[in-house]
Amino acid sequence: MTMEDRFAKLFEPVRIGPVVAPNRFYQVPHCNGMGYRMPQAHAEMRRIKAEGGWGVVCTEEVEIHHSSDLSPNIEGRLWDDEDIPALALMVDAVHQHGALAGIELTYGGHHASNLYSRVPGLGPRSMAITGFHPGQTRRIEKQDIHDLRRWHRAAAIRAKQAGFDIIYCYAAHNLTLAMHFLLSRYNDRSDEYGGSLENRVRFLRELIEDTKDAVGDTCAVAVRLAVDELLGEDGITCQGEGHDIVAMLAELPDLWDVNISDWSHDSATARFQQEGFQEDYIGFVKALTSKPVVAVGRYTTPEAMLTIIDRGIADFIGAARPSIADPFLPNKIKENRFEDIRECIGCNICASADVLGVPIRCTQNPTMGEEWRRGWHPEYIAPKKHDKNILVIGGGPAGLECARTLGHRGYQVVLLDQKQEFGGRVALESALPGLIEWRRVIDWRIGQIEKMDNVTLYPGSPMTADDILDVGYTNVVVATGAIWRRDGVSRNQWEPIKGSDLPHVLTPDDLMNGKSLTGHILIFDDDHYYMGSVLAELLIQQGCKVTLATPAPSIAYWSQFTLEQGNIQRRLMNLEVSLHTQYLIQEIRHGSVELSHTVSGDRITLDLDAVILVSDRLPNDNLYKELLPALEEGRLDFLRVIGDAEAPHIIAQAVFAGHLAGREFEENQPDQTPFRIERVEF
Ligand code: ADP
Ligand code: SF4
Repeated sequence: MTMEDRFAKLFEPVRIGPVVAPNRFYQVPHCNGMGYRMPQAHAEMRRIKAEGGWGVVCTEEVEIHHSSDLSPNIEGRLWDDEDIPALALMVDAVHQHGALAGIELTYGGHHASNLYSRVPGLGPRSMAITGFHPGQTRRIEKQDIHDLRRWHRAAAIRAKQAGFDIIYCYAAHNLTLAMHFLLSRYNDRSDEYGGSLENRVRFLRELIEDTKDAVGDTCAVAVRLAVDELLGEDGITCQGEGHDIVAMLAELPDLWDVNISDWSHDSATARFQQEGFQEDYIGFVKALTSKPVVAVGRYTTPEAMLTIIDRGIADFIGAARPSIADPFLPNKIKENRFEDIRECIGCNICASADVLGVPIRCTQNPTMGEEWRRGWHPEYIAPKKHDKNILVIGGGPAGLECARTLGHRGYQVVLLDQKQEFGGRVALESALPGLIEWRRVIDWRIGQIEKMDNVTLYPGSPMTADDILDVGYTNVVVATGAIWRRDGVSRNQWEPIKGSDLPHVLTPDDLMNGKSLTGHILIFDDDHYYMGSVLAELLIQQGCKVTLATPAPSIAYWSQFTLEQGNIQRRLMNLEVSLHTQYLIQEIRHGSVELSHTVSGDRITLDLDAVILVSDRLPNDNLYKELLPALEEGRLDFLRVIGDAEAPHIIAQAVFAGHLAGREFEENQPDQTPFRIERVEF
């Protein structure tokens, strides 16, 4: 098959200085929580993207020196020659498929905690380390500039030795010293590196010149620059200094990789930004330079990709998240398999793994991060061993993914759900404000299943244990989900809440199933992720007055890991939702609720019309329990409970559970840890 002619442009080779990218698909640097600590896992994850057609595959940020130690986050490291082999693994893996390998060198400035190396970091002035770690950087002296340039140059030479084709000078996301120098709010210097913009740009200019001088004969030198920080006059703006920096350095690098800052803006979730959301900010760059430009904006649709080339916005389709959700996105376009593209849903579970320092994971792509340790490929799964029929009960994300995986392996599968619509919790949650793109979890899986003759869908089929035993299937997977608790028992609320049995006390399930409310509503959020805040938006849309109380120290506390906390709180404040952090419910009464402060114990009483308890969920595992005796008696050969019915969790975990069950069916499970670990050898 050939690609439709109209997308041929996406597959044109593009020259970047001394190297040529085979096409316009460019996996920009992205963190992955594996980095220097799991180099084999890292290399295999990147290799698969090259196999899937990405013409350029980059590392995450790679520390150039031990005084730029980004721990506790696990990024790349190129402190000295000993770090070369681990990165060379990735280069060789990417080169196997004809892609270019890029490396994003970084010196973290006040972003580097140096918690591991315990030496002072360097900044344009002595200032507090980000991430709420106590401590400050040391102000850079003249000699330090020489050292920093020497370190960056040495790292570039080591990167070349590792085999990289593209070497970055990084000045974006507010995470790197080259950007800290640019910012007048941090740079108070009166020497030739401070004051005028030209002076503040000097350090970045020198890094680019040094890198070109050191490795530019065979390596392209890229600049990643934040052209707008969305801070107005407190920061770089695309009409102001962002524009002027690009104009000053226009022809110096071989490639411009431009975006907005900070990371939460650059990787905005679908709840807050749509495909192509950065175009208004970065669109000016191409007019200022003849060098190729990379743009990101969570592009998942081939048409949108084409138009950014045609409209002269960029030369490369930059992607982090779309390449995580579908490492084979380019090849699918090339092969006219547009409906097979597994589109990113913009949830940032991938980002949360980096922030938490664990291997990357993805809601849409359960194989992400599992390529090396479990040997999972996103497109291929070992075929079935024997002809078997499997019944999967429950068509939420876990059941859908399990049925798809088993179907892919060639089994005869029946997937049924008591509801007329498949999708389980995702069907309900994606109808909530801002979450419509989450439907892609359902739509992609249904689309794949409908192409399989061996998987049959039966909507509107409530099943009891007797029904299941009657139909004669002996292999059964139960994916019947969970329901929100009515009694308020949760993380911090150990006992049922007094008054939770009153009729005006509701759960998220009630609202998602269409219950509408009026008056003043309290949302009590002991879940700490998105649900409480999304329901607040829903109730505001319905005309209610809303108060949100949580025992956590901030609103939607866990959403800090998906980079959303600020956006969520801002939105709720704009909607005039009244916010109370560090409060538990003491008692719910007719018409009022008594809250108590988690630390002081001080009590407040609010007059209310209804209360929504966003607390723990109860696994819907009765069916599984009822079937267990049949397994023990030999009337069933196989029975497994997965997803929320096993242990309620986020959607990504349900998809993963479905995939795992599909992969493991008929495979012997070893007694040891079922995945490889990169251990230190003694
Ligand atoms: P998960 O996140 O684990 O996939 P969900 O709650 O999203 O869980 O989906 C569970 C699905 O199972 C829901 O669509 C629900 O309608 C369905 N279901 C629950 N019990 C039964 C049953 N007894 N028979 C058929 N379908 C069921
Ligand atoms: Fe996209 Fe979510 Fe996957 Fe990240 S985790 S790539 S945001 S679907």
